[in-house]
Amino acid sequence: MAYRYDHILIRYGELSLKGKNRNQFIKQLYDNVRKACTGFPSLEFEKQHDRMMIFLHDEDENQVCDVVSKVFGISSLSLAVKVKPEMEEILKACLEIFPLQEEKTFKVAARRNDKTFPVVSDQINRMVATTILKNSNWKVDVHNPDYKIVIEVRKDACFIMTNKIPGAGGYPVGVGGKAMVLLSGGIDSPVACYKMMKRGVHIECIHYASPPYTSLNAQEKVMELARLVSGYQGELLLHIVPFTNLQLAIYQNAPESYAITIMRRMMMRIADGLAKKRHALAIATGESIGQVASQTLESMNVINAVTCTPIIRPVVCMDKVEIIDCSKKIGTYETSILPYEDCCTIFTPKNPVTKPRIDKCEKYEQKWDYQQMVQQCIDQVETIKITPQKQEDDLF
Ligand code: ATP
Ligand code: MG
Repeated sequence: MAYRYDHILIRYGELSLKGKNRNQFIKQLYDNVRKACTGFPSLEFEKQHDRMMIFLHDEDENQVCDVVSKVFGISSLSLAVKVKPEMEEILKACLEIFPLQEEKTFKVAARRNDKTFPVVSDQINRMVATTILKNSNWKVDVHNPDYKIVIEVRKDACFIMTNKIPGAGGYPVGVGGKAMVLLSGGIDSPVACYKMMKRGVHIECIHYASPPYTSLNAQEKVMELARLVSGYQGELLLHIVPFTNLQLAIYQNAPESYAITIMRRMMMRIADGLAKKRHALAIATGESIGQVASQTLESMNVINAVTCTPIIRPVVCMDKVEIIDCSKKIGTYETSILPYEDCCTIFTPKNPVTKPRIDKCEKYEQKWDYQQMVQQCIDQVETIKITPQKQEDDLF
């Protein structure tokens, strides 16, 4: 039988976790990895106390690695070959799986978990190194090798592993509870989604649409962004809020300079209502200090004043270029820069206040029964279930 990589070994991230949390962490990670791998029906999974194993069977190792390396809570993964715990088999496998016709450097590190194995670690290292040196142009480099070959001898099997592939880090999505993220069609909010999920928070997204002032294209763009970020948690609910009436009422009742501020307060009130309805414990946005008039500390105070729910701003202290770099890395940038009309851009006032006052906001808001309109927005929300695969999305 010819040897090939037939396993992927997964190492857990943030190992400071202990006790009950640790078990919950491992269980959630196991579920998330399995969910991410539904496109590979032949895979088998095994969770162990200190790591997780995937049995590849006939699935492609690189494709599976690509998918698994995006799952949060993993510090690194390695391709591995399982062989019988016998020296002859170990040497045979090493000759078959490494590209020995190329010029590479290497180092061997054996670990003998089974102390009854008749060959000690140093001896395994030497035998494997000698065999590779004899059959290739490879050279030993103990400091910075191209291939670090790890040989782990257990009682029932031996695993030969190579270089660590970096995992996505963070915590498994779900261990940190749930939050609602305000998703616009811009660059910043998809990055905010990613950062929330990376800390283990399961997200649902809210988008405020103002048809006919915002087009169906704009909504489809937001759905595409939601699809792109959904890959980090499996699936995602997108709540589309019919915002037109409330937005028109704002422009009738408040001076232009306060419109954006009051619109933000209304968005927060709706988000708060939806958070309660969906049992989410926080609201997140893509705001960043100073980026635009509505993102000063004064504005944030006035916006926060309408709710006691924590408002998290994952990109609040990042420069625009840093946010752009992140959006390129997570694959949302190209979609975010497509032209579209956001409900904010359409009604953009010429001179928005940068230092809004709460008393003034309250005075303008008292001019009409906004509570009823806010409640209508919450009641009439359209919820769509988004999955990472491109397909017709279901109404939830
Ligand atoms: P982004 O790049 O995320 O669109 P931005 O720089 O364009 O952000 P704003 O338009 O001021 O900034 O919006 C700030 C934040 O408010 C957004 O990051 C998003 O979280 C939220 N937001 C704005 N417009 C909408 C909308 N139509 N639907 C949902 N959330 C929105
Ligand atoms: Mg925007």
